[in-house]
Amino acid sequence: MEETFIPLSVPNLKGNELKYVTKAVETEWVSTGGPYVDEFERAVADYVHAKGAVSCQNGTSGLHTALLVAGVMPGDVVLVPALTFIAAVNPVSYIGARPVFMDCDDSLGMDPAKVERFCAEECETVNGRLIEKVSGKQVKALLVVHVFGNMADMERLMQLAGMYGLLVIEDATEAIGTYYKEGIYAGKHAGTIGDLGVYSFNGNKIITTGGGGMIVSDDEAYLKHAKHLTTQAKSDELYYTHDEIGYNYRMTNLQAALGLAQLEQLEAFITIKNDNYERYRQDIAEISGFRLLPFREGTRSNRWFYALYCEEDGLDRDHVIRGLSRHRVQSRPIWGLVCDQKPYLDARRYRIERAVDYWRHVVNLPCSTSLTAEEVCQVVGLLRELNVSE
Ligand SMILES: *Cc1c(COP(=O)(O)O)cnc(C)c1O
Repeated sequence: MEETFIPLSVPNLKGNELKYVTKAVETEWVSTGGPYVDEFERAVADYVHAKGAVSCQNGTSGLHTALLVAGVMPGDVVLVPALTFIAAVNPVSYIGARPVFMDCDDSLGMDPAKVERFCAEECETVNGRLIEKVSGKQVKALLVVHVFGNMADMERLMQLAGMYGLLVIEDATEAIGTYYKEGIYAGKHAGTIGDLGVYSFNGNKIITTGGGGMIVSDDEAYLKHAKHLTTQAKSDELYYTHDEIGYNYRMTNLQAALGLAQLEQLEAFITIKNDNYERYRQDIAEISGFRLLPFREGTRSNRWFYALYCEEDGLDRDHVIRGLSRHRVQSRPIWGLVCDQKPYLDARRYRIERAVDYWRHVVNLPCSTSLTAEEVCQVVGLLRELNVSE
């Protein structure tokens, strides 16, 4: 029997997508004007209980804009995670600010213990500003990523940000739909806890607009400035007056049409992600040498990506990826550390330890919202066989 291909993470467009996109085409509102853009911004802001939202071309441009409106300046230091997608870090470089790489904790998010130690031992407070001792430069912000939809330790990170006067930008590109159920942030969504948050609607994310992003905040001034910057900083519509250097980062009505239809299905998608995660977890728990990484307790996670941890004494991750691939199952290793990539080899890295371990041992398993229970079974069956045949 021909084995069917099981992809890692693909779009699922079986709702009102065609209907809304058709309407956008029929009304000829296909570019950055049109009713869907405003509607989608409002819908996302309401969904995550943020004061407002500003749409943009993708998550990367959203992060760039968020850093700009937060006031990160050339030369500033921004603490960033080592274990993430490089798109989270590049916007820091676009601005001419300098990333300092931090380790992760067991949630794969930024480790607050190391952030605390860095601030206490490697920095000093001068006139209310946190200054990195070796460079004399101000540490301006934390860029926190909610890896695979798992909430970073926002309780402790926000506490540290408060203590040291740091801005917090949340890269929630993978985490729309993730929120705290308990604790001081109960009811708060990933992306709405720091000063600004950013979502992505790239094709592999839990909901997609083909490509797209959204900045959210509770601060009206940030939102207003973000909208201004993403629309070429035009301060007069008629006379084309520009008061600073802006960007063409706006989302189109076509993208927003897709986005609205996708958002209608987000809760249903999360239910599917959750069910499939539980299936994987239970079955994988019975195979020695593997375990599925958990999501933070006290949160409702969107469970965007599933992370298989290959134990040190078991099969190595490349063997697992090749073994699955032979049976037409797509998987991939977690990202290589950003500080090990060519553009960042000279950047400062602070006690990166756990991130190296996760980088060596984690494989992402198929997690599309169209993935069936039978397919989960098939993937687990292959993992079991791989294990026995060794
Ligand atoms: C997807 C992603 C981005 C970038 O989003 P795009 O929409 O692809 O530009 C940034 N950071 C992380 C962690 C991501 O997963």
